[in-house]
Amino acid sequence: MATEHYYTQAIWSATAGAKTYPSLSHDLEVDVAVIGGGITGITTAYNLAKAGKKVAVLEAKRVGMGTTGSSTGNLYAPTGQLHKVASKHNEETMKAVAFSRSGAVDFIEEVVNEFNIDCGFRRVPWYYFTTKEDSPHNKQIEKELLAAIEAGLPATGVAPAGFPYRVSRIANVAHQAQFNPLQYVQQLAAAIAGESCRIFEQTKVLDVEDGEPCVVHTSHGKVTAKAVIKATHSPIGRYVVHTEMEVHREYALAVRLKGDLPPDGIYWHMEEKQMYSVRPYSTEEGNFLLVLDASHKIGHVEQTEKSFKRVEEYLRAHFEVDEIAFTWAAQNYKPADGLPYIGTSFTEENVYMATGFAADGLTWGTLASIMIGDALFGRESPWASFYDPKRFTPAASAKRFLKENKDVVTHLVKDYLLRGDEKELDEIKPGEGKVVALEDGKVAAFRDEQGQLHVVSAVCTHMGCLVHWNNGEKSWDCPCHGSRFSVDGQVLEGPAIENLEEKGAGGQGPE
Ligand SMILES: Cc1cc2nc3c(=O)[nH]c(=O)nc-3n(C[C@H](O)[C@H](O)[C@H](O)COP(=O)(O)OP(=O)(O)OC[C@H]3O[C@@H](n4cnc5c(N)ncnc54)[C@H](O)[C@@H]3O)c2cc1C
Repeated sequence: MATEHYYTQAIWSATAGAKTYPSLSHDLEVDVAVIGGGITGITTAYNLAKAGKKVAVLEAKRVGMGTTGSSTGNLYAPTGQLHKVASKHNEETMKAVAFSRSGAVDFIEEVVNEFNIDCGFRRVPWYYFTTKEDSPHNKQIEKELLAAIEAGLPATGVAPAGFPYRVSRIANVAHQAQFNPLQYVQQLAAAIAGESCRIFEQTKVLDVEDGEPCVVHTSHGKVTAKAVIKATHSPIGRYVVHTEMEVHREYALAVRLKGDLPPDGIYWHMEEKQMYSVRPYSTEEGNFLLVLDASHKIGHVEQTEKSFKRVEEYLRAHFEVDEIAFTWAAQNYKPADGLPYIGTSFTEENVYMATGFAADGLTWGTLASIMIGDALFGRESPWASFYDPKRFTPAASAKRFLKENKDVVTHLVKDYLLRGDEKELDEIKPGEGKVVALEDGKVAAFRDEQGQLHVVSAVCTHMGCLVHWNNGEKSWDCPCHGSRFSVDGQVLEGPAIENLEEKGAGGQGPE
């Protein structure tokens, strides 16, 4: 039976640790303030505290429960884009990507061993493949295989015995890895928390002033620091990199199968226009198969339940599904030239960012933490110039940059031409949301199951685009730079910092 409703709870949340951290309760002075307690923030804090810096981690919600806790937990050096990096940039950059990412996966393994982190870390192969002889993606797989070999990765073009699909083309790279990302980050945080690494949860950063020192204003006091790291997935505030990234929402299902799980591995199946990422995961709770994708640009699809459905249809076409156990969505930020942005911006000296990770950020985030550590200790990172946010790569970025900004301008202009009137509020059915133009501006109105109307400003507090309704997740999503808000206007994810302005609640709608 097909599922009718999808709930957004990632499989890893079932293994979330009980440990919590206090909110900041007084002003604090440290060497480095790290904003965000995902894999990037916690690993950065680990690196800096280990080397003797006094660190404060400021997390708006709970450690690990951002995108890190909604990821698939795959760790790999190739990205399926190595060949594109070679053609957009050059071979040296492509090798730097493979080498630096391999180092980051090794680094995670060392940390797991150092602290005995119980997160199911294991080495597995990465498979990137097609299953149709006439697949339009065959060339792409062939090119990726060649690039992986060229970059020195242990790659072959042969599927192993017992492979769960009939393969047309494959890039098979050995010695990659998988883990439970939430257990990794939460246990690492617990291991490093102490006098030299203070961790604060439920502490939202509201503003950052660059300087000597920098001042970080939070919902609970201020932190003074020599350097600040914005490890918030997309850096909070306004940056040029926001205009260079395309934001995609992705959909994931974790299911129990009727038969056995496929052998361990990271399976990336190129089918039609989508790439489906499949991974088996075994725990005391049972055996699960995780499948995700059906991604789309954020704010471009209202009926997002259809995206979940597409993943479910894929699953049922390829496996004997017994039960759908978890369904969730999360988003990634795709950089214009295919490389992440790690370092300082044009306008700041002591504030660092780490973003543009696409769907490969467990490894990029770890690499960012190593590179930021190097920068703060005055060590020259061999990778700094490749990933510098200030790099200028017009040839590699042009196509996506122009497309992305055409989209932003389209939304700014088209969405503002929207006309409507108050009557439209009455027509909103329970469980639905709509942007309505009223005399004093555009509002985002949602009617809950009790018939109560929740009305907030529809103007995104980041850069002024109008938010769009996301029916599957019941949120207001900004199509321009990916900020998301709850039906009551609270920021769900950045780069926005401020909530949508409340416009009040209304009465009953249609019977
Ligand atoms: C569905 C999906 C699957 C993925 N699977 C993989 C995978 O298998 N392998 C892989 O390598 N990558 C994967 N990725 C990408 C990867 O999950 C992310 O790139 C990575 O987790 C980003 O980590 P982060 O620490 O930078 O951000 P996050 O984990 O999002 O952490 C940022 C933190 O900052 C906090 N924050 C935000 N604003 C503020 C504020 N104002 N004040 C204080 N705190 C704030 C948030 O609450 C959050 O906890 C996947 C992505 C998606 C969408």
